[in-house]
Amino acid sequence: MRVAEIYKSIQGEGRLTGTESVLVRASGCNLRCWFCDTPFASWHPEGEDLSVAEVLGRIELLNCQHVILTGGEPMLFAELIPLCEGIRQRGRHITIETAGTLYLPVVSDLMSISPKMKNSAPDPKEHARWHQRHEQSRKSPEVIRRLIDEYECQFKFVIDHLDDCGEVLAYLDEFLEINRDDVYLMPQGTTLEEITIKGEWLEPWCAENDLHYCPRRQIEWFGFVRGT
Ligand code: SF4
Repeated sequence: MRVAEIYKSIQGEGRLTGTESVLVRASGCNLRCWFCDTPFASWHPEGEDLSVAEVLGRIELLNCQHVILTGGEPMLFAELIPLCEGIRQRGRHITIETAGTLYLPVVSDLMSISPKMKNSAPDPKEHARWHQRHEQSRKSPEVIRRLIDEYECQFKFVIDHLDDCGEVLAYLDEFLEINRDDVYLMPQGTTLEEITIKGEWLEPWCAENDLHYCPRRQIEWFGFVRGT
């Protein structure tokens, strides 16, 4: 599988915020969000082709109990199946970060699903072909239901404007299986200033609606720096 980077850091989002983790970033994505903060794993995929054994070896060198398989979209790669089995055999905790549009029968302790909303679509003029593909692919209810059925899940939504919050509520009405305690709303942005400004209206909205506010702590801790 093509891998953009493997490194040790601290999880900054969701229920495992603050947990030291090894991140394996698969390079390649079936979507093209305009705000993608890892374009080197989506718009312009970089990295080297590594075997499952090589990825497992690099994870072991970093010696960490928690492993996050992220992207890009890791569920694009069938090698994820033996990779997850290998990580599980070594007794480590596995989180898979996915947009929830693709299914693979992997072993995982936590599916961290970030459904892509209307606000994610790339510019229809500048990226007409990707705009169409993105809009056709970003929502897969049958995949979401299967992931909910088979895995421990959390849901993270990227919020750019207050209007986006209504779409989250509609989503939760559509998928009544989702427990609100597993839902995190994250302000869109890659600077502490952007996160702080959007947090001023998003945090109280989350409190009023009984959902978690998730300020993407990695931006606060490390800045918008690759490999953190
Ligand atoms: S789904 Fe994730 S990796 Fe893919 S383009 Fe969107 S934000 Fe980037």
